[in-house]
Amino acid sequence: MRILRTLCDFILPPRCVVCEASTSGTSDPWVCMGCWTTVEFVRPPVCAQCGAPFAAPVEGIGSTTHRCGKCLLSPPSYERARAVGLYEGTLREVIHAMKYRPVSGLVRPLADLLSGQFAVHWGGRMPDALVPVPLHRLRLRQREFDQALDLANVLGQEVGVPVWGETLIRHAHTRSQIGLSATERRRNIRGAFRLQPEGSCRGRSLLLIDDVYTTGATAQECARVLRRAGAARVDVYTVARVG
Ligand SMILES: [Zn+2]
Ligand SMILES: [Zn+2]
Repeated sequence: MRILRTLCDFILPPRCVVCEASTSGTSDPWVCMGCWTTVEFVRPPVCAQCGAPFAAPVEGIGSTTHRCGKCLLSPPSYERARAVGLYEGTLREVIHAMKYRPVSGLVRPLADLLSGQFAVHWGGRMPDALVPVPLHRLRLRQREFDQALDLANVLGQEVGVPVWGETLIRHAHTRSQIGLSATERRRNIRGAFRLQPEGSCRGRSLLLIDDVYTTGATAQECARVLRRAGAARVDVYTVARVG
C-alpha cells in the first residue's frame, strides 16, 4: 500500500483542497496544516438559542441566557443550536469539497471538529441519540454520499452516542436551498420530512447533526417534526454556521 501511495503521489501529488499547496508526505493529504490553523471558531458571546455570534463585547450580552432579536421575535422549534466554526475561508472550502467533489476523506477531520467541542456544548446534557438531517434519495443518488449521516456516524463512535440514521426521512424533493431567502427556505422545506413509523422519539432528547447551519430553516423543520412525534428536546449541532 505504501509503495502504491508513493507511486500515486509521484504521478498525481496530493494537493490541499483549499490552497492547492502540495500535501505530499503529510498526515492529511486533503488539507494542509497551514489551512487548518486558519479555521474561524465560533466564540462567545452567542445567542443562547440559535448560537449566532454577537458583535462582542456589548454590555449585558455576556450572559448565557441572552437571545438574539430573531429568536425573541419568532422562537425556533429547537432548544439550542451550536456550531464549531464560521462558514468562511477554510471551513467553507473543506465542507464544499466534502459535499460536491465529493471527498469522503474529509468526513473524519470535520467530525473530529464536532467531537472536539462536543463536551463543551452537550456534555452537561448528553443526548439519547444523534439524528442526521437527511438528504433526499434523488439527491443522494446524484451525489452518492450523505454527509450528515457520515458525520453523525463518526461523531457517534467518538462520543459514544447512538446514531438514528433512519429516523427522519426526506420524502419531498425540495429545491436546493441555495440562493433562497429565509422565508423562501422555510416555505421550501415545509412538510419535507417525516418519521419512519418505527422511529420512536417519545420522551427522548435528540441532537440533529448537519454540516452547515444557514438560516436554520431545515433544522427547524426537522425539530418540529421530531417534537410533534413526542421528542422531549431537540438540539442542533453543525460543523459550521453562516454569520
Ligand atoms: Zn492549504
Ligand atoms: Zn438567536
